[in-house]
Amino acid sequence: MKNKKGLNTRCIHDGELKDDKFKGAVSPLYLSTAYDYLEVVDHKYPRYFNTPNQLALSKKISSLENCEKSLIFGSGIAAIFASMFSFLKTGDHVVFQSSLYGGTINLILKEFKKFNIEHTLVESLEIEDYKKEIKSNTKLIYIETPSNPLLQLIDLKAVSDLAKNNNLISIIDNTFASPINQNPSDFGIDIIVHSATKYLGGHSDILAGTISSSKILIDKILDSSINYGGNLSEHTVWLLERSIKTLFLRVKAQNKNAQKIAEFLYVNDNVKSVYYPGLESHPQHELAKRQMNGYGGMLSFLMKEEKKSDEFTRFLKIIKPAMSLGGVESTITSPSLTSHSKISKEKREKFGISDGLLRFSVGIEDYEDLKNDLTQAFEKI
Ligand SMILES: *Cc1c(COP(=O)(O)O)cnc(C)c1O
Repeated sequence: MKNKKGLNTRCIHDGELKDDKFKGAVSPLYLSTAYDYLEVVDHKYPRYFNTPNQLALSKKISSLENCEKSLIFGSGIAAIFASMFSFLKTGDHVVFQSSLYGGTINLILKEFKKFNIEHTLVESLEIEDYKKEIKSNTKLIYIETPSNPLLQLIDLKAVSDLAKNNNLISIIDNTFASPINQNPSDFGIDIIVHSATKYLGGHSDILAGTISSSKILIDKILDSSINYGGNLSEHTVWLLERSIKTLFLRVKAQNKNAQKIAEFLYVNDNVKSVYYPGLESHPQHELAKRQMNGYGGMLSFLMKEEKKSDEFTRFLKIIKPAMSLGGVESTITSPSLTSHSKISKEKREKFGISDGLLRFSVGIEDYEDLKNDLTQAFEKI
């Protein structure tokens, strides 16, 4: 897909609906749930994912992810569910990276067995270890890079090659990177999902999800999604379109702040380790350079006195202890108490998520203010 406009222009204008009647500058919002069926081939209905606002926003998202088509869902998990279950049946097998968003792990552990769908969680980041797990009934390979909360990377090109050579569909949760920092379709990954609750929404006030892919695969997902019923409401579709207009500006500012904060924490005496792909100390920094356009606004760190991490977050004044991520405001969270709390402590530790780990979603505030906030909280513990 060549000759595209710049990312800011695409964030603002791609897919926008023209207000032919009143000549307003922004997309009109069409709320109808009832549309004419006479002389219309493509019957419109919100649950069919084909209303004017849904189609308009899906064009913007497809443009940002360099994909042919997209669908918009009521949550990230609804998108993740549809991206997998549209292709799975009893007896199938899926290969997963083990370092995944906690809700995705819950979905796998709790729902797959009801349908007798097999899975393997691969703890390594080496492609050879994924190859070993492919069986005759394997249908999908599902990854998340950078992963939540440890910011681990997997080689996108290697995963897509492995999928193609074995007739599998590759799926990535691209939430942490956002379409600004990483476009997996450029490396041949088949399906890209986002929790739009995070960077795409960007203001901690929208719950949504997206799937982007080729026309062929999206049409297949659509066939099933009409039955699952997970579309996003028209009001929120409109608000999400508005939010994405500033996606590039926000993410660029978050990347810049996160890099500085990672460097600040890395040399801080209170900190034991920092996980951020933009640090040269990150074991996959070279891979990050190859496949990412920016290192993102997410980082995690471990304090030397792990037991004090909870106390530390209570002393912060600007940075909010809050679940979720990707908003313009900086938030910090303990994965073991939030996103990964439904997973047993034993499993968490196996995945490398210790109880003291803090995950930092860096916002767009002024860097000096964030640094000062961290400094005063370190001094108090
Ligand atoms: C939040 C999140 C999800 C789930 O999205 P919801 O919008 O909460 O349903 C999936 N993957 C990642 C990486 C997330 O951060």
